Amino acid sequence: MKKINFSAGPSILPEQTIEETAKAILDFNGSTLSLMEVSHRGKDFIAVMDETVALFKELLNIPEGYSVILLGGGASLQFCMIPFNLLEKKAAYLNTGTWASKAEKEAKLFGEVVEVASSKPDNFTYIPKDYTIPADADYFHITTNNTIFGTEILTDLDSPVPLVADMSSDIFSRVIDVSKYALIYGGAQKNLAPAGVTFVIIKDEILGKVSRQIPTMLDYRVHIENGSMFNTPPVVPVYAAMQTLRWLKANGGVPAMEKVNKEKAELLYTEIDRNPLFVGTAAKEDRSRMNVCFVMAEGYKELEADFLKFASGKGLDGLKGHRSVGGFRASIYNAMPLSGVQALVDAMKEFEKNNAK
Ligand SMILES: *Cc1c(COP(=O)(O)O)cnc(C)c1O
Repeated sequence: MKKINFSAGPSILPEQTIEETAKAILDFNGSTLSLMEVSHRGKDFIAVMDETVALFKELLNIPEGYSVILLGGGASLQFCMIPFNLLEKKAAYLNTGTWASKAEKEAKLFGEVVEVASSKPDNFTYIPKDYTIPADADYFHITTNNTIFGTEILTDLDSPVPLVADMSSDIFSRVIDVSKYALIYGGAQKNLAPAGVTFVIIKDEILGKVSRQIPTMLDYRVHIENGSMFNTPPVVPVYAAMQTLRWLKANGGVPAMEKVNKEKAELLYTEIDRNPLFVGTAAKEDRSRMNVCFVMAEGYKELEADFLKFASGKGLDGLKGHRSVGGFRASIYNAMPLSGVQALVDAMKEFEKNNAK
């Protein structure tokens, strides 16, 4: 039985991405050489890099004046690279979860950090909405999808200062207006490719404003000037990302993804709200369409391990919640088909039949 992968990350990828990357690892473009052993400066790989960047721009409708770069180091390296390049005096952060907290911690190494609001006292179950962004901040940092706690900012916020967003776990999942952001970044391993490549979309005019010296490898301008080839890029993950973006384009692009993602999330949350054995953990208005967190309801707490085992027996893999939330987390990224979510809903109904008091 082929398992259905609900893991939060690394996570499910389109079959096409895995198959085409596997083929290229054995024989890249009919060269008889592996994608893993060819020069990244050869024309065939440069074409891969160019197409990947072009697809980013096309699928996200990225306006003129922005660059797309593909780097190593994960989203976590961006936590320090962003303030290194952008923070001169003061930056504002919205604290909505573990990743947001980690980003904020790094910024403190470079200047004053104003935490405009935090939902930490409520275990990050909601997105704070009532706060003021200091008008003299160099930028305002948000995490659009909180992978661990299952909350998501589903609109493009207005900000009086450059808006910086960690979109590691919801990039390409809904239509966004890139012009409202100064910088968007994320690790690939949630919605795009295997771990190893990190995307950064930057408005060029925000760079070059800090007075500190920036080490070459941490300077966005170096990577922009060198077309993400200043040093050896992670070629296999970049190739896989290109395949995912081709798949996305062939399937109607981001608007089509958004439509299915809404259907999937609606299907699962409706079942969580209906089924007396389960209860959602995130505030309803802030529920993530990518990571659905839920626990056993009062009176059924002792059945947690049983449900995981039951689901696993049906091939539903990776449902265990993060240790800071407990219970279950169903990650239903772009590559998860509606039928996968339906299989989980069916399992929840059957488990209810077997166990309801
Ligand atoms: C997974 C994740 C990260 C960390 O990504 P790495 O590539 O492992 O550094 C950061 N932010 C968010 C929102 C994530 O989901």
